[in-house]
Amino acid sequence: MTYRLPCTDCGAPTPTKRPKPRRCDPCAKAEALDYSRWHYRTFRDEMLEYHRNHYRKNRKRILAKRAARRTAKVQSAVNNETARRRSSAATATSPGRLGRRSTARSTSGAHDERPNHR
Ligand SMILES: [Zn+2]
Repeated sequence: MTYRLPCTDCGAPTPTKRPKPRRCDPCAKAEALDYSRWHYRTFRDEMLEYHRNHYRKNRKRILAKRAARRTAKVQSAVNNETARRRSSAATATSPGRLGRRSTARSTSGAHDERPNHR
């Protein structure tokens, strides 16, 4: 059973499962947003200082981690490229496909099924 009771803040009719009035969703959301804004404003300086100190303390480690991520990304891109070359070379050298090489390449380019192809 659902009740339709007025919102305790703005009085808009609100469906609720319990026989008690509650706030409507927009009112609850507004308060949450207000609270998060207040929280951010209040602790912003503290938080920024904390992160600055954290960065200062762990600078080397953070930079090393970033560099590692970057090389991993580049390496995976290189691997993808190599795999693509290898697969296209395999199709090109496979028997019976030699005459249709350019056609095959153009169609494979038209619907590439790999999701993270860039
Ligand atoms: Zn309301």
